[in-house]
Amino acid sequence: MSELVSAQGAVKAASRWASLDLPELYQCVHCGLCLNHCPTYRDLRLETESPRGRIHLVKALADGRISLTPRFAEHIYLCLICRACETACPAGVQFGRIAEAARAAIGPPGSGAGRFLTRLFLNAILPFPHRLRLLIRALRFLQRSGLVALGRVFLPKRLWEAQSMLPPIPRHFFDPPEVLPAMGNRRARVAFLSGCVMSTLFSDVNEATVRVLQRNGCEVVIPRNQGCCGALNAHNGEVEAAKAMARRNIDAFLATGADYVLTNAAGCGAAMKEYGHLLADDPAYVHKAMEFARKVRDVTEFLAEIGLNPPPGHVPLRVTYQDPCHLAHGQRVRAQPRALLRAIPGIELVEMEASDRCCGSAGIYNLTQPEMSRRLLEEKVANIQRTGAQAVVAPNPGCMLQIRYGLKRAGLEMPVYHLLDLMDQAYQERL
Ligand code: SF4
Ligand code: SF4
Repeated sequence: MSELVSAQGAVKAASRWASLDLPELYQCVHCGLCLNHCPTYRDLRLETESPRGRIHLVKALADGRISLTPRFAEHIYLCLICRACETACPAGVQFGRIAEAARAAIGPPGSGAGRFLTRLFLNAILPFPHRLRLLIRALRFLQRSGLVALGRVFLPKRLWEAQSMLPPIPRHFFDPPEVLPAMGNRRARVAFLSGCVMSTLFSDVNEATVRVLQRNGCEVVIPRNQGCCGALNAHNGEVEAAKAMARRNIDAFLATGADYVLTNAAGCGAAMKEYGHLLADDPAYVHKAMEFARKVRDVTEFLAEIGLNPPPGHVPLRVTYQDPCHLAHGQRVRAQPRALLRAIPGIELVEMEASDRCCGSAGIYNLTQPEMSRRLLEEKVANIQRTGAQAVVAPNPGCMLQIRYGLKRAGLEMPVYHLLDLMDQAYQERL
């Protein structure tokens, strides 16, 4: 027995990928209960495109039984990191951590120029809010001048499709005063993550969110030194950049002394709740990261927790709700957004089939895996259509962009709202 153990140890020591030898890999009992919850397995019916199969592959790489090949990378990058397998798993396997660790070993997705551009975006644009805003301003200029139409001729098909998913970019970005007072009795002091996409493409939703918080007795602090949460970096093999972004946010937010750190983007919330894990090997930050993570709430989770001041207005609308993966599976927040929707007078909620199945957005997945993304989106649009709803509610920017795109492609005129948008309308109605 001891010989066997030492032989296994020797194999592991010989493996270049011993850093992938995660405790999560050994929690899997191979029961397969996650398989039918996995969108890629449901689509392809291949074990290698399932959570269990991917765990097996990562374990084999960590043990030195297989090598890191382009095929291995394809299996790992076809995963959406939707984390639907986590909520289905009776053994509590946190597959998202396994996938992120494997991607850190692989590096960014794709090859050639695509990989170079992804790396550039993740390392030289996203961590610098002013650079991201410059890029989005340039896109806004192209949109408004009509020059963007030339992209159909010059841009590779994938990039052209990516830009056509963008909404009309707003004239102004989210740039509020650093502190906004509570209305009525102050119930909490909260710090708000502006978000890279939310503060540019959805600045109106951020403004609505802050108004709703103020109406619910919150003093809202928006720290100037904050930046992107780093989720896209962590999901796409750039973990060191993700760590640097996490440290920046921890410093900026803890300095406010706020009771809570709030976000209206599900992906950001899930990533920030994991900062303690992300920085576990950083003795200077791990405790601060855990303190920070304890304060993080999705804004819907927070409003349900403190008890909503009932909105006085009326929003007559039949809606269906899309559970963002990183809210339902990543943060286990499902009931709270629905309770808030039902608290809006006039709203009728019609559930869709598989509301918690990924829409195919998944960060930059719709760019890196366009075929699988499109199939998942088509399934989502069909499910939406069957509800007979007049509008879709999806409290996450990626889902909003993706579902709008899918509805447009299907020729359906159906608005997609952020939940806080509808709540804000309900508070505005009688003012
Ligand atoms: S994270 Fe999503 S796509 Fe990846 S293995 Fe789990 S269920 Fe499948
Ligand atoms: S449900 Fe959990 S334990 Fe079962 S195969 Fe999937 S990951 Fe492994």
